[in-house]
Amino acid sequence: MRIPLSAPDIHESDIEAVCRVLRSPQLSLGPKLEEFERSIASYTGAPDAVAVSSGTSGLHLCIRALGIGAGDEVLVPSFTFIAAANAIRFEGALPVFVDIEPQTLNIDPAKIEAAITSRTRAIMAVHTFGCPAEMSSILEIARARGLPIIEDACEAIGAEYDKRKTGTIGDIGVFAFYPNKQITTGEGGAIVMRDSKLAARLRTLRNQGRNSSSDWFDCSELGYNYRISEMNCALGVEQMKRIDDVLARREAVARSYHSRLSGNPNLVVPGLSVPRRRISWFVYVVRLSSRFDRNQRDQIWREMRSRGIACGRYFAPIHLQPIYRADASFSGHADLSNTEAIADRVLALPFFNQITESQIDEVCVILEKLAV
Ligand SMILES: *Cc1c(COP(=O)(O)O)cnc(C)c1O
Repeated sequence: MRIPLSAPDIHESDIEAVCRVLRSPQLSLGPKLEEFERSIASYTGAPDAVAVSSGTSGLHLCIRALGIGAGDEVLVPSFTFIAAANAIRFEGALPVFVDIEPQTLNIDPAKIEAAITSRTRAIMAVHTFGCPAEMSSILEIARARGLPIIEDACEAIGAEYDKRKTGTIGDIGVFAFYPNKQITTGEGGAIVMRDSKLAARLRTLRNQGRNSSSDWFDCSELGYNYRISEMNCALGVEQMKRIDDVLARREAVARSYHSRLSGNPNLVVPGLSVPRRRISWFVYVVRLSSRFDRNQRDQIWREMRSRGIACGRYFAPIHLQPIYRADASFSGHADLSNTEAIADRVLALPFFNQITESQIDEVCVILEKLAV
């Protein structure tokens, strides 16, 4: 693709930091892990952070550490990345899908109550595309019902709701650092929480169930290898030093797209500012207007690609994925009509730190020619 959908932003200083680790004797569970965890904690305002091998492993450990298992239900949107629901299934629990609200594309708080049953054990709020979910309403419902909130903030590092950073608003939050995210460690993730016992438990679970204070063979429970290497952490430390600049640059790219496309009646563009929120721009996703259908969207997607412009069609709803469709346990969900209608019309445009004005211009010219 001439213009990619996303691109990591790697500086010479990042490369040097990774090379310094490679010349050191410690390639895992060393000083860079501690430094990376401290930088995530201090940036988000969380008391502690536990870095792990991916966002998915982080979400899995949240489910596990909260004691959620067979027969339990967790509320989650279907309009999101499949890892959110899969992490629930890893422990034998059931994801219960809740529809989204059209403005922010996040879980609709008005539809949460109806999805709660006696088996509901948590609400997973996903901050889709870096725009925070309606946390005040979600917190109110969760408190009234005594349910913990897991924040999937994998697309939303640095985003804020009422001046609080996403990930730290609920009980436990997860960030991800795959190369298409705002900052990257190659592969990696981090969990933030207030409860220090929970943090210790997560450190044990990420490392084969080993007690951190005891010797190698003292394993108290079934754990995993969800460790993240020192090389990944060194990259993360360097990337975190630039996070303010990265988020400002991404916001500027979103503004450029907005000024080009917001007047087009065939497109619905994301709002640049949403009340009570600071958006951390992960991707720039437009929607075709309601007179377009999925086939027309797919045709535009193909035409863009044939001109060398990478576009994404996310999200495809989780409940419509073959692995979920094939299993009757997932067929009992409530009405997901917003999810399905919106998913048919979304188109993610090329979005990365170094995209140029002329590339943005080219994407917009071609999109506006095709979306008629
Ligand atoms: C990226 C992402 C994840 C998982 O992150 P990985 O690091 O790829 O495992 C989970 N949830 C959402 C919403 C994501 O966007």
